[in-house]
Amino acid sequence: MLISNIIKRQVLDVAPYTLTLHDCPIKLNQNENPYDIPPGIKEEIFDLARDRVWSRYPDFVPDAFHTLLAKHVDWRADGVAAGNGSNELIQAILAVTMEPGASLLVVQPTFTLYKLMGTVLGGTVIEHTLNTDMTFNVEAITRSVEQQSPRIVVICSPNNPTGSVLSLNELAQICDASSGLVVVDQAYVEFGGDSAIPLLNVYDNLVVLRTFSKACGLAGLRVGYSLASAEITEQIAKAKLPYNVDFFSQAAATAVIQWWPRFHKIVDLLISERERVFAEMSQMGGVTVYRSHANFLLFETLSTPEMVFGQFVDRGILIRDVSHYPMLERMLRVTIGTPEQNDAFLDGLSEIVIEEGNAK
Ligand code: PMP
Repeated sequence: MLISNIIKRQVLDVAPYTLTLHDCPIKLNQNENPYDIPPGIKEEIFDLARDRVWSRYPDFVPDAFHTLLAKHVDWRADGVAAGNGSNELIQAILAVTMEPGASLLVVQPTFTLYKLMGTVLGGTVIEHTLNTDMTFNVEAITRSVEQQSPRIVVICSPNNPTGSVLSLNELAQICDASSGLVVVDQAYVEFGGDSAIPLLNVYDNLVVLRTFSKACGLAGLRVGYSLASAEITEQIAKAKLPYNVDFFSQAAATAVIQWWPRFHKIVDLLISERERVFAEMSQMGGVTVYRSHANFLLFETLSTPEMVFGQFVDRGILIRDVSHYPMLERMLRVTIGTPEQNDAFLDGLSEIVIEEGNAK
């Protein structure tokens, strides 16, 4: 068997989305919520699941769940599509739009899946970069959108792995410039930045993506959703798999919405922890840290990311080496954890930079 006779050229050539496994007691590498769903809320979800017949499929179209999500974010129910994580919706959006000759514009460094799936599905990827201070160059993006008319522009706001955001006004500028779809991925919006939802009333070429994996603490259950016009949503839904969100995950997401004020308190704590960790890192000699509106911070020290990553693993702390991303050759990313986890990270980092200073 010759693999190149079977697998598409663009798939052979594209780098996979990978994650190295390390067993560390403090896990700050995947932008998860460090707080599990409170036991009382879990019990409610278990009760619902216990009463449900497991041998039956979930609803063919989860109308009740879509209506609940629509109410939660103040958008129309026929403009909501729930997915098996927002990843599934990224795949569905690209599946219904990408083909040879169609292009996808991304602003690097950003979430890897867009370029990967866009390429696998046959599209051409146009890559822009952030400014060196990790802010968006809205003018350059807008100009490129006008000149190259990509079928899709992807903006993650807040962006992963930098935490940079675009204002509502700037997002509107990009929607104005685009003759195709503008996908605004807001996986981290509960932690900062403007919600793009108000723009849905103005732009019928806008898709907003949200997830229960970050602020809502349900990464293990895989629930995300897209918000767009009814017309676009109907087409995106064609590329979702049937019964893509199981009844248990729907029940858990429903409980999170019902208990939202409680989750909001956790989000507030994580935001204040982000600011504390940022302030402490900014004080450390040899550390450069970038302002973030998400639940993680991008930073660099004087050593190579590989070395710093290893030194943290030795201390039982798992962070993310993001040096393979465009522009980030010297960088690492740390997720904001509980105050105790953040203290352990800060203690580790100050030891590492002192060692770096001594080695000079
Ligand atoms: N968008 C962005 C920007 C992300 O960082 C992630 C997760 N890393 C996702 C989407 C996917 O999240 P999920 O599939 O868990 O909803």
